[in-house]
Amino acid sequence: PPTVAPVIDPEQREEDVALRPKRMEDMVGQREVYERLKIAVDAALIRGEPLGHVLLDGPPGLGKTTFATCIPRALNVPLQIASGATLMAPKDLLPYLTNAEEGSILFIDEIHRLPKSVEEFMYPAMEDFRVDITLGEGVSARTVNMSLRPFTIIGATTRSGLLSAPLRDRFQVREHLEFYSDEELTEIVRRNAAKLRIEIDDAAAEKIASCSRGTPRVANNRLRWVRDYATSRADGKITLDVAKTALKMLGIDQMGLDVQDRKYLETILRVFHGGPVGVEAVAHTLNTATDTLTDEVEPFLLRAELVVRSPRGRKLTTAGYHHLGVTPPADFRS
Ligand code: ADP
Repeated sequence: PPTVAPVIDPEQREEDVALRPKRMEDMVGQREVYERLKIAVDAALIRGEPLGHVLLDGPPGLGKTTFATCIPRALNVPLQIASGATLMAPKDLLPYLTNAEEGSILFIDEIHRLPKSVEEFMYPAMEDFRVDITLGEGVSARTVNMSLRPFTIIGATTRSGLLSAPLRDRFQVREHLEFYSDEELTEIVRRNAAKLRIEIDDAAAEKIASCSRGTPRVANNRLRWVRDYATSRADGKITLDVAKTALKMLGIDQMGLDVQDRKYLETILRVFHGGPVGVEAVAHTLNTATDTLTDEVEPFLLRAELVVRSPRGRKLTTAGYHHLGVTPPADFRS
């Protein structure tokens, strides 16, 4: 079993709900994605037709589920939620398809985890709103064609590269979510402090934002922790000092990296001499799942240019060495 907890614990998803914006207009950042989705939504409303299928990709915690829950509200249609991880066979997906009301949304999280059989079962549903169901077995098996009410699939994935081309092509709208700027995260922290009814200084909000790996979900988690700290150890108000002390207690550094991020970097440095090293080897050494590293840990470290991906594996950059307080070797070339 992994010794290091994943950055984003699925159990925390419940907690996301309270701070999740209800309307697309209330979402901070992702302006271009927002504008394009808004146009697609408005057009669907005007034409009275279902929205085209939407694929959202990007690292965890950037707002895929939030978009997927705001869009049906904007369209005033029902939402069903499923996860690619639990749809093991066509029969698991079928009830969602037959329940889908006209124009409604079916959100499939982690859509890259759908088995091939389910994926193929979905093609005619997406294209022509019909499914082919096989009844019986062996020689007596027969296929029944069943029509569905026109509906919309919103798929979310951390890695659209894992999606097969035929599946990807069936989404009319494809959007990639990027990490948030410190200013955008500061705004999210301020708004959510108000929702949590806690007073926060501007400098403290900026500090929490800059320590949140460009990710709203991380900002929310950090904010909740700092709030607990302020409640139990300070007079309930989040000042810059309170924020700094509380974040330090969690082992979060200047750049917002947590213990797991640093363990990853330190493993490449100390065990693999700075790389290049395959991610599987790093995962094995850390006793953690490769997917956790590629989906949750690496995206931000790559964006922060602390590591690079080369054909021969992961490598620390000069900035990566410096972040660990180490001078790169004399013959180091990045
Ligand atoms: P994902 O589905 O990409 O993993 P979520 O949509 O669940 O991410 O986002 C996690 C949390 O981050 C949400 O509950 C919400 O509180 C916050 N969040 C995400 N995107 C935004 C945004 N654009 N504006 C404000 N808060 C956001």
